[in-house]
Amino acid sequence: MASRVIPVETFDLVIFGGTGDLARRKILPGLFRRFLSGQMPADARIIGAARSDLDQAGYRQMIKDAILEFGGAEKEDAVCLAKFLEQLNYTPIDAKGEAGWKALAGMVRRDVVQAFYFSVAPSLFGDLAARLHSHNIATETSRIVVEKPFGRDLETAKALNKSLADHFDESQIYRIDHYLGKETVQNLMAVRFGNVLFEPLWNNHYVDHIQITVAETVGVGGRGAYYDRSGAMRDMVQNHLMQLLCLIAMEPPSQFGADEVRDEKLKVIRALQNVESHHIVRGQYDAGKDGDGYRHDAENPRSFTESFIAMRCHINNWRWAGVPFYLRTGKRMKSRVSEIAVVFKDLGHSIFEGDEKRHRNILAIRLQPNEGMDLQVTIKEPGPGGMRLIDVPLDMTFAEALGDDAEDVTDAYERLIMDVIRGNQTLFMRGDEVEAAWAWTDPLIQGWEARNDVPKTYEAGSTGPEDAQMLLHRDGRRWRDLKV
Ligand code: NAD
Repeated sequence: MASRVIPVETFDLVIFGGTGDLARRKILPGLFRRFLSGQMPADARIIGAARSDLDQAGYRQMIKDAILEFGGAEKEDAVCLAKFLEQLNYTPIDAKGEAGWKALAGMVRRDVVQAFYFSVAPSLFGDLAARLHSHNIATETSRIVVEKPFGRDLETAKALNKSLADHFDESQIYRIDHYLGKETVQNLMAVRFGNVLFEPLWNNHYVDHIQITVAETVGVGGRGAYYDRSGAMRDMVQNHLMQLLCLIAMEPPSQFGADEVRDEKLKVIRALQNVESHHIVRGQYDAGKDGDGYRHDAENPRSFTESFIAMRCHINNWRWAGVPFYLRTGKRMKSRVSEIAVVFKDLGHSIFEGDEKRHRNILAIRLQPNEGMDLQVTIKEPGPGGMRLIDVPLDMTFAEALGDDAEDVTDAYERLIMDVIRGNQTLFMRGDEVEAAWAWTDPLIQGWEARNDVPKTYEAGSTGPEDAQMLLHRDGRRWRDLKV
């Protein structure tokens, strides 16, 4: 089964911040993989634009090194890499001044798809948007791509949206949440809306609860001071976990189109109940066997910022009335796991004598590691000895189901960048979604700030604070294991 590469129109992609960490680690290696797959047209061009005073040869060398280091290329790809680099240009630019803009205007073609990736601090978004217009570079069909963090509260998000909306129409703005570019996340929609099996059960009659976990083993070291101003709620819940929650909970859109999908996601966010403070557990990691504690990493000995958060949420609509959604995310946890688990209700009655175990169907959607899904089902244990029941996973891991094609599972960034070129906004956040998410998180954050809430400590390498376990135990439930 060879994977299908759908060609895209030729394009000029300008990467503002083209020398930065994100461009070197994700964007350019991702583009190189698209080049290798044959998707990048031969006359498409990538233009790095950043503050560094580099020439074209210097930039090409920088990106060559980055692609070799960050996994985009094998040794045998050397010829392809050289060809790819020929499509790469560079121009120094100052987002906050006039330097470099005339040169950029002379480089970008106006008669091809134009995309401008703002891989810079959000404080520069407004300047870039304004200068793209004042220098007559952008056209009515240009696309701009922006990265998180999209604000730190509703007010700042509104200001950012306005600074873009002053110069670009919403249909031109692509707000990236790379979780939405993951293969499994899209597969979640295929499973829900492409099968007759699941959708009839996808409601409060059959679903007991839903768990969404994004656990990381790394701490905040390296970006501690930055992280300390945000915390897990702003850094992870407001965007990534919220997006996953929306896709799990939304009503079926009339079609898989950008506005249809985003309208349904928005309704979910708007239907979220305010979370009571006793349904939120904030945590901060302590020193573990092989690392320092959060406050050391954040260089703030009196920090009250959370590196872990667990919460119980409810969605106020017919489908989900009474079904808890448990969210948790944290740094320095026992293992690196991102998954969504839909836990179905117990059978009301068992016909099998002596079978007292609680059997439950669970659909687990894994984002990492081993992207894939499994469905826990109850079967008879093979062999003699009567009707003994066991729970086994029906494994839908891509590597097994799809054989060689699984290696081709496209990285989230490359998929999303190609969607930008195609002009498909389905997997990007709309401005009103981002604002609605902040409108929901703001009062929660303000609540704990007003209370001077001190996060519970948890041991680095653990599953988080004890109180997070209690959050579910109180409801007669438990978190799924964080398997190593
Ligand atoms: P970085 O500090 O490594 O790079 C910043 C880039 O911006 C550099 O290329 C620099 O030359 C350029 N720049 C700075 N000031 C400029 C100016 N006045 N004019 C023109 N160019 C200027 O940052 P990064 O880690 O690459 O992050 C870029 C953006 O992406 C940030 O908004 C960040 O929050 C976001 N982001 C990064 C990551 C990541 O993994 N690095 C992940 C998610 C989001």
